[in-house]
Order: sequence, then C-alpha cells, then structure tokens
Amino acid sequence: MVELIPSQDAVMQILKRTGAFREGHFIYPNGKHSPHYFQMPLAFRYYDTARVLAVALSRKFRLEKDISSQLPKVAVISPSSGGIPVAFGVRDALNAEQIYWAEQEKGERMFRQYINQGEVNPCIIVDDIIRSGKAIEETVGLVKSLGAKIIGCGAIVRFDTAPNEIEGVPVKSLMDFDVRMYDKDQNCAECKQGVTPEQVRF
Ligand SMILES: [Zn+2]
Repeated sequence: MVELIPSQDAVMQILKRTGAFREGHFIYPNGKHSPHYFQMPLAFRYYDTARVLAVALSRKFRLEKDISSQLPKVAVISPSSGGIPVAFGVRDALNAEQIYWAEQEKGERMFRQYINQGEVNPCIIVDDIIRSGKAIEETVGLVKSLGAKIIGCGAIVRFDTAPNEIEGVPVKSLMDFDVRMYDKDQNCAECKQGVTPEQVRF
C-alpha cells in the first residue's frame, strides 16, 4: 500500500461516491440557502472509506513534531457524535493512548465520562466537518478546564469560512471547501430556477 495523503479531489470523489457530499437546493436551520450539503456519516458507514479518510488525517498530524514526539501519550477528542468514528480511526492510526468525546446536553457541550483534572493527555481535537468552528472552540474550553493542552486540531472537511487556527494550533483538513451560503433574499440561483428546496439539519 502506498502511504499517501489523498488529494482534495480524491477526497471529494470519496464524499460524492458515498453520498456524503450532495448537490441540490438546501435550506439550513438558520434559514440560509445553499446548493451543497455534507452528510459526513454517509462516508463513515463504509469501513474502507472511513479508514482511508481517518488514516489520511492521522498522517497530517504525524507530520507535526509537537504531536509525533508526544505519541502515544496523546488523547484524541471528538466534539460531537459525528466526530467519534474519525476520532477512533485517528487514534488507531496514531496508536494514541486515550479517546474522549463530548456530547451536547441541554445546549451545553460536556464530557459524559467522569474525568478528573490532570488525567487527560495532550489533545488532538478531530471532527468530521468544521463549519463555523464553534463546536471545536467549545471543546477547547472543556479540555483546558481539565488542565490539558491542545497540540492538534483537524477534520476531514473544513469550510473556508471556519478558522484555520485554534489556540495557536493550525487546523488540519483533507479538504477545504469553498462555501456558498445565501440569505433568503439574496441571489440563490436554485430559488430563481424554481428548484424545490430540501430542509436539512447541520
Ligand atoms: Zn434558495
């Protein structure tokens, strides 16, 4: 097997093939219209695809000295359920010691596990997709409150409107996506063409 990080085009092909990247006319919960929609768990339903993507992302982390030098005493952390398969795949590829995932309860992001101060290794936060960066930023707050350091951060897809650095750590991604979001009254080409919209969740 050739040990390579796939190109952005190759990643997009995987996302299209699995249905994780969809084109059409979508309306998001915030009322914005868009001709594209990512449903990342569709790429992670196939073990082979999930593995290719997670291993590729792990290679980007391994290239960072601050990460490779601390392995295996590293924690891989997912901000949400969508990032859990990514976190397990990246943890596996890096042979990192710990894994954690946050959940949202009553609108607040928290760890369900009982975690004590000082127990968490230096952290890599991974998600399937970074749209606004809010989930990652909240997770950074959680991790810091437990006394742990952030040494890496990344996702399979990063919207180009999301931050490219968190806590001084560069955000790694396999694909940076040029986001097109329109306010209702703005120039949504699909509205003009009369394409029936589909309501989607984030
Ligand atoms: Zn529209």
